[in-house]
Amino acid sequence: MRIGFIGLGNMGAPMASNLAKAGHDVFGFDVTHATADGVTGVEAVADAVVDMDAVVTMLPNGDILRSVYDEIVPVGKSGSIFIDCSTVDVESARAVHSLANEKSILSIDAPVSGGIGGAAAGTLTFMAGGADAAFEKALPLFEIMGQKTVHCGEGGAGQAAKICNNMILGISMIGVCEAFALGSKLDLDPQKLFDVVSTSSGSCWSVNTYCPVPGVGPSSPADNDYKPGFAAELMLKDLLLSQDAAQLVDADTPMGARASQLYQTFVDEHGTGKDFSAFLPLLLKTARGTLDG
Ligand code: NAD
Repeated sequence: MRIGFIGLGNMGAPMASNLAKAGHDVFGFDVTHATADGVTGVEAVADAVVDMDAVVTMLPNGDILRSVYDEIVPVGKSGSIFIDCSTVDVESARAVHSLANEKSILSIDAPVSGGIGGAAAGTLTFMAGGADAAFEKALPLFEIMGQKTVHCGEGGAGQAAKICNNMILGISMIGVCEAFALGSKLDLDPQKLFDVVSTSSGSCWSVNTYCPVPGVGPSSPADNDYKPGFAAELMLKDLLLSQDAAQLVDADTPMGARASQLYQTFVDEHGTGKDFSAFLPLLLKTARGTLDG
């Protein structure tokens, strides 16, 4: 296939390279003129769209996605597939689906989980939303860039699944950090607490695979001075998207709202570049009531 790839950042560059390595002709565009291994860089966004069988976007947010679609849909090939892998708000995802579909371009929203490591290794999980025909056309490309794909439903369903998953993750990580901070103040050995919780009803991904305590559990960002991993500011982005979506459909998400406030406080106080599990060292320092809403 001839594939255009727009947005060659931390995630997009390795994903585009994997498509090229699999034998596709990949043409990449980024406003910074970033390039990627095996990918032909182009100077204008249209050169990554005209006559392409597929166009993949991997962009920072919904506003940028909408402005890029305003430019690329008019020059897209009828019958081609536009795949957006960015994490954006559900409204923007639905808006760009409509724009593409009006021009007989198939479209799919397919945000990913797995981070930069998963992008490089081709082991991402894709959560896809769109019509069956669009999904079938995009699937072979997901299989190159990832190891698991779930077709979640119609346009926007991929973004909905992504923000629901990450809302659970944000809430559960704060809960796990609270429990390990409380345990520490009760003089409980964190290894013993891990041994209990990881095999008990409190077990979850935040404990079992990504334990926020250095030296406890499998290797995680806690063992590397909380270098991301999954940065707190990206968790905040996804939590805020969950709250936008909840507002849109009148869903009550009290814990999601609280987790958003707490990660906002974390990012305001610690800046960017720390893993989201670094909520633990914060809680080890704060006195009771400090972070009450
Ligand atoms: P990034 O900032 O490294 O990459 C985004 C790229 O888009 C940049 O290179 C930027 O120059 C480019 N860009 C911006 N505006 C553009 C435009 N108008 N035209 C062309 N290129 C443009 O971000 P990233 O970490 O690669 O993340 C991309 C998306 O994936 C985000 O939506 C993010 O939330 C999501 N995501 C990231 C991770 C992660 O671990 N980094 C994990 C899952 C999902």
